[in-house]
Amino acid sequence: MIIQLHPDIPQSEAERLARSVAAFYVHDGEKQLLVTSSSEKSLHPTLERFAKSHWVADSDIQLSSRSYRAENRITRMGDMELGNGLNTVVIGGPCSVENESQIRSAAQLVKDNGLHIFRAGAFKPRTSPYTFQGLGMEGLELLEMVRAEYGLRIITEVKDSSHVEAVIETADIIQIGAKAMYDHSILHACGESRKPVLIKRGFGTTLQELAQAAEFILSKGNMQVMLCERGIRSFETKTRFTLDLCGAAWLKYACNLPIILDPSHAMGYAYGVPDLARACMAMGVDGLLIETHPEPAKALSDASQQLNPSEFTALVASLHPIAKAIDRKLI
Ligand code: PEP
Ligand code: MN
Repeated sequence: MIIQLHPDIPQSEAERLARSVAAFYVHDGEKQLLVTSSSEKSLHPTLERFAKSHWVADSDIQLSSRSYRAENRITRMGDMELGNGLNTVVIGGPCSVENESQIRSAAQLVKDNGLHIFRAGAFKPRTSPYTFQGLGMEGLELLEMVRAEYGLRIITEVKDSSHVEAVIETADIIQIGAKAMYDHSILHACGESRKPVLIKRGFGTTLQELAQAAEFILSKGNMQVMLCERGIRSFETKTRFTLDLCGAAWLKYACNLPIILDPSHAMGYAYGVPDLARACMAMGVDGLLIETHPEPAKALSDASQQLNPSEFTALVASLHPIAKAIDRKLI
C-alpha cells in the first residue's frame, strides 16, 4: 500500500512515521510517500491509526496510474527524453549478440539511420534448452564496445538473478523480458537501481498485472520504468503472437509511464513488421523496438522476424513522415 503524505509534513516527522510502521519513505517529485507491504485489509494497527491522521493526503495509490499522477513520467538519458509526448524513439538491433562482426554491422546500421539506442540480448530466455542461449558475459563486453565505439546507448535483457548485477552495470536501459517479468529478484534489483528499465508484457499477462510488475520497481524509488507491449497469445496461429493495440491505447490512457511497442516479436515474421511498425508509430507511442540482423537467415535466434539492413533502412525512412504528421520527433 502507498500512502501519500500531506505536503506540509516536515521530513523528520515523515521519516519518524516511516520507521514506526516499517515503511519505506520515498520522494516522488514534490510528493512524499510511504510504501508498505501491508494491504488496506491487513494494516498494522499503528499504520491504521496513522492512515487516518491529518498528515495523510491519500492512500492505496498506484504510482503508475494517471489517477494518482496525471502527468507523464519521463525517462531521461543524457539529453534524451522518453515519454515526454514529443519524441518517439526507434530502438534497433538484433535479437542476440552473436559475434563481433555481426554486432558491429548492426550497430553501424542503427547509427547510419540516425538512431541512438541499440538493442541485443546477451542472456537469452529461450523456449527450448537445445537452442542458442546467448553469449553471456562475453556478449555484455561486446555491447560495452558498441557503446564506446559507436556512441549508442544500450538496452539488453536480464534473464535471471545470477547476472542481474552485471546487466545493470552494463546497460543504459535494463530490459526485463516477457518470461522474466514475474521474477521478484529481478524486479527488486531493478527497483534498487536508478537506471531506466523496460518491462515487457508476458504473453499471458493482463495489463493490470503488467502495471503491477512496474509498481515493484517504482515503489523502491526507481521512477524510470517503461512498459512494452510485445504481443499476447490468442487463438490465432498464423502470426507468432497478437499485438494488442487496444491494450496499448489503454496503457496510454491509464498509465503515466512511457509506452514502447514491439512489432517484431508480436508478428514473428519480417514481412509484417514494417506495416505494423507504421501503425504503431501512428498511434503516438513513446517508442518502437525493431529487430534487425545483417543476415537474418543466419541469425541464431528469432531469424524469421528480423529485418535485413535494407528493409530496416526503408522502414525508418517511412516512419519519419508519420512521426511528423502526429507532431512527434523520431529519435
Ligand atoms: C527479445 O527482446 O529478444 C525477447 C526475447 O523478447 P520477449 O521477452 O518479448 O520474448
Ligand atoms: Mn528476439
